[in-house]
Amino acid sequence: MNYSIIAACGLILTVFSAQADRFADVQIQETALGSNIYMLSGAGGNMATFVAGDEVLLIDSQYAELAEKIRSKVLQLSAGKPLSRLINTHVHGDHVGSNAALSAGVDIIAHQNVLVRLQQDGAFPTAGLPTTTFIEQLRLRMNGMTVRLDAMPASHTDGDIVVWFEEANIVHMGDLLFEGRFPFIDTSKGGSVKGYINNTRQLINMLNDTTKVIPGHGNLTDKAGVQRSLAMMEATLAIVNEFKAQGMTEQQAVDKGLGEQWKKWHWNFITEERWIKTLYHADVN
Ligand SMILES: [Zn+2]
Repeated sequence: MNYSIIAACGLILTVFSAQADRFADVQIQETALGSNIYMLSGAGGNMATFVAGDEVLLIDSQYAELAEKIRSKVLQLSAGKPLSRLINTHVHGDHVGSNAALSAGVDIIAHQNVLVRLQQDGAFPTAGLPTTTFIEQLRLRMNGMTVRLDAMPASHTDGDIVVWFEEANIVHMGDLLFEGRFPFIDTSKGGSVKGYINNTRQLINMLNDTTKVIPGHGNLTDKAGVQRSLAMMEATLAIVNEFKAQGMTEQQAVDKGLGEQWKKWHWNFITEERWIKTLYHADVN
């Protein structure tokens, strides 16, 4: 028997199955935040769930491939009570992917622009479309607690909402916060660098020192974490604006880089190069 052939076949099979299901090893992990509210992470945008008496709320739904894992995690946390409401913080596929699979008997709530954009997307299953939409603010009373949904001016996209658990002092910021990493600002879906920075400033003013902040991506954080993100955006925007004032092209700005201080904010989706290009074309200076 030729062991090198066996080893090679094993390697090929491993690579093939990794491509076939990149979600196979993903687990949905919960972090208890108190008041029956949990942050949930898996792959894609962070979720949250709130077990509110007979009702169960979920914020965001990651990818379709994870629907059964999400469902079973929510059932585990709710002691068997099924999901009744699902909020989408915005339109991106890593936040709405399991909508259709989880939609039976569930009110799906989102900004009006999320519904419009998903309807324009021919590939998005009709069963996963939002059933309740709004454009400014929506308050849900659940088991004596207030869940407030604030629509925000265009920033990450043009349909971003931030979800406040008022009494519990917990907020899910959706992709208005990429904790510890350069943010994605989707100008193809109405996003704006100016709006993103302005919204971050406004949200900081609404936090206090004990607020628990769930970011769209990254680790659970707090007011100081959001302030670090704002400081990074202000500093790197100033750097790129200075490059432009010196007459640098976009490529020259990318080649020059942001410097050692901001290297750790680079990640595989929004690289330093991509963040510089975003700032170079920003609608703010
Ligand atoms: Zn997003």
